[in-house]
Amino acid sequence: MQFPNPFKLLIISLFLLLALLRPKTIAGKVDQTNTEFSLKYIVIDPGHGGKDPGCVSRSGVAEKDITLAVSRKLVEFLREKTEYEAFLTRTDDRFVSLRQRVEFANQEIFPPNQSILLSLHCNSFKDRRIHGMESFKFDLDATDELAAELVERENAQEEVDKFDFMIISLRKRGNEKYTRQVAQILQELLVSQLGVKNRNLSASEKTGVRGAPFYILAWTKMPSILLELGFISNDVERKKMTEEKYQKEIASTLVRGIKKFDRQLQ
Ligand SMILES: [Zn+2]
Repeated sequence: MQFPNPFKLLIISLFLLLALLRPKTIAGKVDQTNTEFSLKYIVIDPGHGGKDPGCVSRSGVAEKDITLAVSRKLVEFLREKTEYEAFLTRTDDRFVSLRQRVEFANQEIFPPNQSILLSLHCNSFKDRRIHGMESFKFDLDATDELAAELVERENAQEEVDKFDFMIISLRKRGNEKYTRQVAQILQELLVSQLGVKNRNLSASEKTGVRGAPFYILAWTKMPSILLELGFISNDVERKKMTEEKYQKEIASTLVRGIKKFDRQLQ
């Protein structure tokens, strides 16, 4: 974590003061954004790539390959079966920094009130019995210890400034509702359709959505969530995730979830 300079602290204090003094205006803006959301663009972010393999199993299965395979299928299905315009932050096995991914998603062609971002990952844990699916939205503090550990690994590439994140967490309130909604719907559908363990049940919130300060979720302007599709460290789950049939099942379930989210918007 960087130490804030006095100028930055002053700006943050002024911003927070403004937020406190003008709650009505800010609330008004939030409402306005809410009513205007209409889904058109889906940005899919296959975690890791190139020199960054993500988690790697003892047998050599790499997270970057699973996230790319599922993401490619997801984009293919979205283009075939829906009217949404789907994009990938990387299309092959190359290194793309978290900063570049954020820059891609924040382009003007993806208005934050017409777009969502799904960042796909796989988890790993020292206890190989641990398995299941997790989904995350941005939160200033991780909701639990395991999430904090995970976020440290996924953010490893970029320096994270907690004071910047405080500003962001205020800014992100505008689309918080959609982020939570899309995370909830996708998690529920994936768990019920694929018969995997719902690891969000340990979330402290009743909604079952976990939160953590992931870099990619923090800096993207559109509603964005991060999905941990399964544990590479678990033999059964790793084997399933490398099978094309299972990858297609994940992708088609995500398509159904995105459509369900869109229906709920209307
Ligand atoms: Zn990852």
